[in-house]
Amino acid sequence: MNRILFESFEISDGVATCGGARARHILDVLHGEVGQQLRTGEVDGPVGRGEIAAVREGADGPVVEVRVRHDGESLKPWADIVLAPPRPRVMKRLLPQLAAMGAGRVVLVGAKKVEKDFWGATLLREENWRPLFIDGLMQAGTSVMPELLVRRSFRRFVSDELDTMFPTRNRVVAHPYAEGSALAEGRPGRLLLAIGPEGGWTDDEVELLESRGFRRFSLGPRILRTDTAVIALLSNLNKEDGT
Ligand code: SAM
Repeated sequence: MNRILFESFEISDGVATCGGARARHILDVLHGEVGQQLRTGEVDGPVGRGEIAAVREGADGPVVEVRVRHDGESLKPWADIVLAPPRPRVMKRLLPQLAAMGAGRVVLVGAKKVEKDFWGATLLREENWRPLFIDGLMQAGTSVMPELLVRRSFRRFVSDELDTMFPTRNRVVAHPYAEGSALAEGRPGRLLLAIGPEGGWTDDEVELLESRGFRRFSLGPRILRTDTAVIALLSNLNKEDGT
């Protein structure tokens, strides 16, 4: 964790309190002790620094109190994702990575080859996905919470919502079978990246996205697991430094 994030309700009179994994990380990994400085921030709020004010034993393990001063702005997300979700086990690995790499809004869409069981997954409850995003933010040292939306009908989402939700023209659909580099002409604006299900996009789905201005992009003929592909794709398409 490169920044310890606190929920706003965990901060009172300039003192943030945490237990659980964050307290253990502060004590065991950062070897925290009273007086030590930490990089801190508020989930979906400002970032800054903190000083460990107290360490005590709570009912469920150690509790750390940090006097915080949050007056800086976090890096902002630079990409949005339309994701045909993989199995929940893969999603659990993927969500922290998306937050760490700078995803803003993640829309889970029901493409044809998404496993039907996925939609009953407990991971879709906010209390389960939120901590995974926060893990990724703490890793990256940022604080802007991604949004997670679910749209079971891929076609309805594309026809009714896509353009208003994502006005950008910089739209890319990741597809291993795309020929050549469809990105040659490059487009300005925030990236909207569509990633297919474990079974892959159908031809109809890729054509539908193309009709809405998405350019096909392949990382090459090796077909990667979704969580690997997302990282490779975002690294390839990252224009965060403004170049
Ligand atoms: N069997 C599927 C197929 O043949 O398309 C594999 C899908 S892969 C596990 C899941 C998604 O990751 C793909 O739909 C695509 O969006 C992305 N992906 C994986 N490998 C890729 C590559 N080499 N280039 C571009 N996208 C890739």
